[in-house]
Amino acid sequence: MYNKCFLVFIYFSLNIFSLKGNFDLKKIENKTCVVPLAIIGGGPAGLCAALYGARAKVHSVIFMGAMPGGQLTTTSYVENWPGVKRKLGWEIMKELQEQAEEFGAVIKYDNIEKVEFDKWPFILHTSSGNEINALAVIIATGAYPRKLSIPGEEEYWAKGVSSCAVCDSPFFKDKIVYVVGGGDSAIEYVMNLSSYSSQVTMLVRSERMRAAARMQEKLKEYPNVKILYNKTVTQIIGDKNKVTELEILDTGTKKKEKVIADGLFLAIGQIPNNSLFRSFLKVNSQGFIQVHHPTTQTSLPGVFAAGDVEDPDYKQAAVALGSGCKAALDAISFLHHIGITEMRLKRCNLLK
Ligand code: NDP
Repeated sequence: MYNKCFLVFIYFSLNIFSLKGNFDLKKIENKTCVVPLAIIGGGPAGLCAALYGARAKVHSVIFMGAMPGGQLTTTSYVENWPGVKRKLGWEIMKELQEQAEEFGAVIKYDNIEKVEFDKWPFILHTSSGNEINALAVIIATGAYPRKLSIPGEEEYWAKGVSSCAVCDSPFFKDKIVYVVGGGDSAIEYVMNLSSYSSQVTMLVRSERMRAAARMQEKLKEYPNVKILYNKTVTQIIGDKNKVTELEILDTGTKKKEKVIADGLFLAIGQIPNNSLFRSFLKVNSQGFIQVHHPTTQTSLPGVFAAGDVEDPDYKQAAVALGSGCKAALDAISFLHHIGITEMRLKRCNLLK
């Protein structure tokens, strides 16, 4: 633990030292609207960063974006938020927001439309027409599950259709469920669901899976799991309240059939919300923002990334929460290193 902290400290010191000229505090002397810590995205990562930032008495402003509360608000009951046995996703996020606000975090229901990360202070342009000068930025814009875009998908989302097996498997006890996808996530979903559901069928759209061989091998241990190749779902049918049937297409013969189903899990990839930042920051081959592990520092000093936008693997709210905490600590450390001592700089009238 001590060694890791020491490494992080050395990392920041060397990085900031080499770029000290870029963060000359004279550059902020005449600015009228300066925010020490701007957080983009109001899901678990962003709100946790705001809580930690504000509690450390760093004036922290969070731009909630298009989906305040993040993906957790699109699910129903959550049973794996540590410390909370069972609660609606939006309620959990509302409490987290209130907790951040109690410590002074400023919540803005506004979207960031454009960023200028090629200058410092970094400039953020909001949908409402404001221009914010930010000394440090945390990107917590999340990701969204790739969808099939088929009839019934929107109507039955969270009523049998889900993209998170860890979150929703227990709701499908003794039920018949289908999983679409042939990657590692799909296999994890299937394994997770198999302990609850009576029958789990995995639909792979081609004749082979993309998942690692060792993952595919594991599936053989699950007696209630069936794998169908060259199949995908073309329609989700229900009784208005829940899913009852699926229309399945054989991608080879083009024949369609209807099957009885209680649930459909989509494991066909996540798309990170990074379009505003791609030209400034390094991203990996799937588009997730690269950070210098174990820190949350992106390829641009002063800009940090937390949660699903930088995490292609775990996709869990609790992981995003921890990542937001790390990003706030990293950003505070950065602000100290560049000499920001008056942490409650409140020159931005628009943001009081
Ligand atoms: P992937 O991108 O690896 O796989 C997506 C799967 O969905 C593919 O089988 C793809 O098919 C299929 N697919 C995509 N679009 C459609 C569609 N419209 N209709 C039907 N099927 C579709 O995503 P994952 O989330 O599985 O994995 C993301 C990353 O996370 C990977 O690097 C993976 O290795 C990693 N991961 C690792 C885990 C582990 O090691 N335990 C667990 C989970 C994820 P096709 O192959 O034909 O394109």
